[in-house]
Amino acid sequence: MTAANAIVARDLVAEYETQSGTVRALDIDEVLVDGGTSLAIMGPSGCGKSTLLGLLAGLALPTQGTVTIGSVVLSSLSAHERVKFRRRMLGMVYQADNLLPHLTVEENVGLQVAIARHDDHPSSRSDPTEVLARLGIGSLSKRLPDQLSGGQRQRVAVARAIVHRPAVILADEPTGSLDPDSAGTVIELLVEVQREIGATLVIVTHDPDIASHVDRTVHMDRPILTKEAADVG
Ligand code: ADP
Ligand code: MG
Repeated sequence: MTAANAIVARDLVAEYETQSGTVRALDIDEVLVDGGTSLAIMGPSGCGKSTLLGLLAGLALPTQGTVTIGSVVLSSLSAHERVKFRRRMLGMVYQADNLLPHLTVEENVGLQVAIARHDDHPSSRSDPTEVLARLGIGSLSKRLPDQLSGGQRQRVAVARAIVHRPAVILADEPTGSLDPDSAGTVIELLVEVQREIGATLVIVTHDPDIASHVDRTVHMDRPILTKEAADVG
């Protein structure tokens, strides 16, 4: 079972076309994450971390290379199949909580269950009420997002990312706008629930304490080259 949600990415190149030419945002040999384990990615702004997460999520396809999650090669799926794959298999957390402002906490989390269920995934969804309680925000379930602190909102974002028991959780600087105390709590909870549901976690973060929470940490530092610069060099 461990391989069912392993992440294997090889020879990944991602390029963006811009007015000043082609920007090579990412060029890495390999990313391997064993199923059910956690990997933290650290590195300076602009080194391609968000680009990498976008490829692991199938939000974009690489210019070269492949991403495989479990036995699924993302580039072999149609755009529609990738959407379904994401809804069913992935949970995502971003720096901004991206909660819907006119829905309560409970409704924001419940919506994720409804979306995943729509795609006919096997029954084993968590109950939003239980997940909110697990994350220490059960008493806030009837509130709207703007009635919460930043740390509370990110806990809701974590609840939403895990309530459908995804195979893979991708988090892009999930604590980037929180004070250190709230950030620590959110990371601890994220890693705890990831282990409880057996998901594979990839987390991009600048949190200096991250290494003590996750199974493995890697540093990205590759400078960004435009294609022209790369050709000259
Ligand atoms: P990080 O998340 O590590 O800060 P990103 O993956 O966001 O880095 O960006 C990597 C590089 O790609 C940066 O040089 C950035 O400016 C560039 N880039 C990111 N998104 C785009 C885009 N949509 N169009 C053009 N260039 C982009
Ligand atoms: Mg980024």
